[in-house]
Amino acid sequence: MSDQHYRVFKIENGTVIDHIVPTMALKIIDILGIRDKGLVSIGINFDSGKTGKKDIIKFENVYLDKTETDLIALFSPHATINIIKDNKVIEKRKIEMPSVINSIIKCPNPTCVTNNYRDCDTKFIVERFDENSTIVRCYYCEKETTVISELIK
Ligand SMILES: [Zn+2]
Repeated sequence: MSDQHYRVFKIENGTVIDHIVPTMALKIIDILGIRDKGLVSIGINFDSGKTGKKDIIKFENVYLDKTETDLIALFSPHATINIIKDNKVIEKRKIEMPSVINSIIKCPNPTCVTNNYRDCDTKFIVERFDENSTIVRCYYCEKETTVISELIK
């Protein structure tokens, strides 16, 4: 493990999100939110052998579940998740792009039913994605859109 790894606060318990596409860490925080327990440390533009640069996020004392960590795929499909307990990695998790995204993003179409009826929650179908972008289609109005942080509710 390189010295650089320790520039981000080392955690005894919690969730480490590694190999995030550089500068996407803040967007991922937008989705996951800052939890009310424990420290959240964010490292941006770390050197990484595999991809050149990477971001890292560590949530101390917070265990994210798979439904939450799969949402990271929206901005970083190759991120990895390590669950740490008592200084040991107890789970190495790969993320999978969800096929449907509920609630997290809003529809950019102003006439969409989801923007006009308070009881109508958003639902998007993931159409395609690559390293840099994810294209989703609104289940209600069929509008296709690239997921950008401005669309996160
Ligand atoms: Zn819509």
